[in-house]
Amino acid sequence: MNMTTLMTVALSLGASAAFAEPDKGVTVTRAGTQPSTAGPSTSFTGAVRVDSRFSATAPATVSGGTVTFEPGARTAWHTHPLGQTLIVTAGVGLVQHWDGEVQEIRPGDITWIPPGVKHWHGATATTGMSHIAISEALDGKSVAWMEHVSDEQYAR
Ligand code: MN
Repeated sequence: MNMTTLMTVALSLGASAAFAEPDKGVTVTRAGTQPSTAGPSTSFTGAVRVDSRFSATAPATVSGGTVTFEPGARTAWHTHPLGQTLIVTAGVGLVQHWDGEVQEIRPGDITWIPPGVKHWHGATATTGMSHIAISEALDGKSVAWMEHVSDEQYAR
């Protein structure tokens, strides 16, 4: 395992400076080199899988990944300090901000969630959904998790 691979693995695991090396060129993180991870039940309802995590090196703060929600699965309510972009890549999904309408999102749709706006996103009750999620960190944090989306809230 070379240094670049080590660094990529370290970053995917949430490590930072320990394996940092000066940027000398383009880094390609190869498909299949990062295991899929499950979305934790503290932050998600239902079966959620995260793949292709990415995390830029400082001073860049962008990070994200591809998130796949099985039917009925969704995030908890949450906010992003600098906002979030979602690009749907498969299936049919839902997104809603607090006190807003539930909106259906489909492959190719791009959703922008402004900084600090409480919201959730996930699959429909009958169809799974995958999206690429992209956000920037402020003071090292890119998300603030809140309460789960209840079945009553989800069914609206
Ligand atoms: Mn979000």
